[in-house]
Amino acid sequence: MESRNIAIVGGGVGMLSILDHLSKQVDGICNISVFMKNTTGIGEAYRFAPDELIMNTRNDSINFFDHIVDFKQWLKKHHNDISSEFEFIPRRIFGSYLHLVKKKILNKLRLKGHRVEFREEIKEIDKKGTIVTQNGDYKYFSAIFVSVGFGTDTAIKENTIKIRNIPKNGTLNIVGSGLSAIDWIILTNSIRPDIFINVVSKSGLFPAVRSSFSSSDYPNIIESNEELIKKPDLIKFLKILRNECKKDINYGLDDFINLLIPNRSLSEELSIAQKRIPVWQPLLYRSTVNYKDFFKALPEYQKKYLLKRRSKFINRRGMFPVKNAKIIHELIESNRLKIESKTIPDDEISAIDTINCTNDNLAMYEFLDRINIDCLDRNKIVNNNFKACVSRNLYLLGPATNTVNFFTEVSSLTYVHAEHAVKDYLNH
Ligand SMILES: Cc1cc2nc3c(=O)[nH]c(=O)nc-3n(C[C@H](O)[C@H](O)[C@H](O)COP(=O)(O)OP(=O)(O)OC[C@H]3O[C@@H](n4cnc5c(N)ncnc54)[C@H](O)[C@@H]3O)c2cc1C
Repeated sequence: MESRNIAIVGGGVGMLSILDHLSKQVDGICNISVFMKNTTGIGEAYRFAPDELIMNTRNDSINFFDHIVDFKQWLKKHHNDISSEFEFIPRRIFGSYLHLVKKKILNKLRLKGHRVEFREEIKEIDKKGTIVTQNGDYKYFSAIFVSVGFGTDTAIKENTIKIRNIPKNGTLNIVGSGLSAIDWIILTNSIRPDIFINVVSKSGLFPAVRSSFSSSDYPNIIESNEELIKKPDLIKFLKILRNECKKDINYGLDDFINLLIPNRSLSEELSIAQKRIPVWQPLLYRSTVNYKDFFKALPEYQKKYLLKRRSKFINRRGMFPVKNAKIIHELIESNRLKIESKTIPDDEISAIDTINCTNDNLAMYEFLDRINIDCLDRNKIVNNNFKACVSRNLYLLGPATNTVNFFTEVSSLTYVHAEHAVKDYLNH
């Protein structure tokens, strides 16, 4: 059998996932070239960063590489003080766990006779499937898996300089109020406790605060309903979700409404999350196992509806820990932070006293352009198996395909998507 020449672009969880699925699924020998930027840690999410930047995923929900290195055991051995199932560990620590996972996967691949080489950042993928690197080298591949996160790295150094340069008792503006804005608020507070933080975003609201629940204790709404699997329907799904919520006669209906129309301030969110579990939280968190097939099979008009309302509904799954919410709440209470709903012009977003946390995906679309992917319709970049271009066997994973899949982008889903992509490639 001829050996396969495979390229992986990006050095994050996406790369690890592709390598792992190749090691499990492929027959014969592969020559694998991984093109990546040099970063410390694994990818953008889990690179070396200050310890204030913690995971949004609780320890007990991290298990997708357990078959390589058992995460809980590893954590207990190396960081016993933060190994409880309720903890949210620093992202750099998860990065060091992933380093060990990477080492083991590479060993496994090499023992099976595969060759893996690590190369520099790519500049372009042409229409024939040739990768051109920043150094001008080029090489053709029979399949290319691209997983470059948001297509850009957070400007940790540049943003930190901006924060340090704010005059004493001055104001830092943060545009955006999602998970990355929360990171920068937490970090700013630790570097410059003297300055005022002004947060502006379209919604003027932070994401939901994750209450203390163990997701495995709750049913998966989609999986546990045969009718929904047979005939996916958003209205039916919402009705079931509402009925589940209404089982809590005190708060259920309010919570369900709050899921669809978020309107609770951070202090309300925090106070609720500390006292009880908002009914929709574990239900939505769990309802992802079959989410890909479910959302893909929805009628077209329902998909359009969902895409329009992503930030109000689908993004609600991206919650943040009480630990961080407490810090932000204290800042608000002590008049050191204000959040308001406002749209900011582009030139103000790049001002020297402003940090951009809008994740507007511009870098991603610029990157897609460089790899010759026509993304006129952003919702149809990839097919069901994450293939973006049939003639080049080009697969796209991670945030690039986020909207296409109607769901929050998280590492465990990137892992599942990689399995589909590798299977598709090997079957053709
Ligand atoms: C700050 C942050 C925090 C997150 N926290 C969580 C969390 O707590 N839990 C969770 O489940 N998910 C989290 N996520 C989401 C999760 O990281 C993604 O779903 C997943 O990491 C995507 O993996 P990836 O490999 O595509 O991207 P990344 O991890 O971003 O890695 C992509 C890599 O590609 C490199 N790259 C970019 N351009 C090129 C190029 N031209 N050539 C070569 N390489 C290139 C980048 O430098 C980067 O190192 C977080 C994401 C971010 C950004």
